[in-house]
Amino acid sequence: MFNQLQPVPTDPILGLMTEYKADNNPKKVDLSVGVYKNEQGDTPVLAAVKKAEEYRLNNEQSKAYLGMAGDVRFNEAMTNLLFGEHDVVKSGRVKTAQTPGGTGSLRVAAEFIARCNPTAKVWVTNPTWANHISIFNAAGLQVEEFPYFDFDTMGLKFDQTVETLSKVPAGDIVLLHACCHNPSGMDLNLEQWQTVADIAKQQGFTILIDSAYQGFGEGLNEDAAGLRLLASQVEEMIVCSSCSKNFGLYRDRIGAISIIGTDPAKAEIAFSVALGVIRAIYSMPPAHGADIVATILSSQELTSLWHQELDEMRTRINGLRSFVVDKFKEKGVPGNFDFIAKQNGMFSFLGIDKESIATLKKDYSIYIVGSSRVNVAGVNDSNADYLADALAKVLNK
Ligand code: PMP
Repeated sequence: MFNQLQPVPTDPILGLMTEYKADNNPKKVDLSVGVYKNEQGDTPVLAAVKKAEEYRLNNEQSKAYLGMAGDVRFNEAMTNLLFGEHDVVKSGRVKTAQTPGGTGSLRVAAEFIARCNPTAKVWVTNPTWANHISIFNAAGLQVEEFPYFDFDTMGLKFDQTVETLSKVPAGDIVLLHACCHNPSGMDLNLEQWQTVADIAKQQGFTILIDSAYQGFGEGLNEDAAGLRLLASQVEEMIVCSSCSKNFGLYRDRIGAISIIGTDPAKAEIAFSVALGVIRAIYSMPPAHGADIVATILSSQELTSLWHQELDEMRTRINGLRSFVVDKFKEKGVPGNFDFIAKQNGMFSFLGIDKESIATLKKDYSIYIVGSSRVNVAGVNDSNADYLADALAKVLNK
């Protein structure tokens, strides 16, 4: 039965991670994988998480099943983190379930959408996080792209975004990144979010928001402003969120799916369908990460410690963005990289060619994804000169 199988190619980013680990060059630089790194190049466990884990170790009462929706405290805390004091929360129009990471959330959303409308097309930004396409295809849904990032200006192609979205019909899904767009770092401003809301109302398509980096762009509330604006104006919406980055809980697999319905009764019905989807995939999510997040968010002391640590991560990333631009100028890297300082989150495209990316890996052990996407958080004081010198040499050839 297995004999006719063909091997599935390694995920290009995870493949680079393996190559990086095996590389013995002491000067190696990893700008590929999307995890936050501190000045020492490490991804440590947050202090707030350690404290919550200690509390859990001493106070956990039972490991009996939690149920399909997971941890109720977590679901409430995530709803508040995403929507704040929003009308959709007060009116009971939003229902949230814990999921295994943002990926798990998107997969549940994909199956849920397939149950709502098996012929729905899912419209994603060009480019988008590559796994979006695999996740929706896996649920049997067709994925279409709409123009978003402009490699000529290293900014948005918003006119073309509007043009394409204005033709998307009711019954289809439009997927937007809440903030810190992966891979481009280019986010919509509030005026552009409003334009999208207007088109969604006019066309009747459904918005799905992927919120994987809340707090990494401008701040917890600022990064949710676009999704909150939409939630005020559309009748139905799905939000998939992840605690991988902002709580540093990557491998603990913790995220959530929130479904907004036209009214509380319709939200409840939609939620029951999502729970049915969950039951048939993994039955219920693992408890650990949700308990950690719920413990942090229900304690004033731990919440303020987490805010402090999140601010530190965001400030470092934003500082690095300007630092990298200045360093590239100082070292004579050809081209204008000012756009890096204007973008959000960990990622930006350098806009360099594949041959240069290959040379950077082969000759300098600098690991960059083939699309030229870099994780800015991989830069630090000890590798910035080496990186900029290498780029100047390779690009000035
Ligand atoms: N959405 C986007 C845009 C992402 O970049 C990621 C992580 N790379 C995810 C979702 C999924 O995150 P998780 O690790 O929580 O599954």
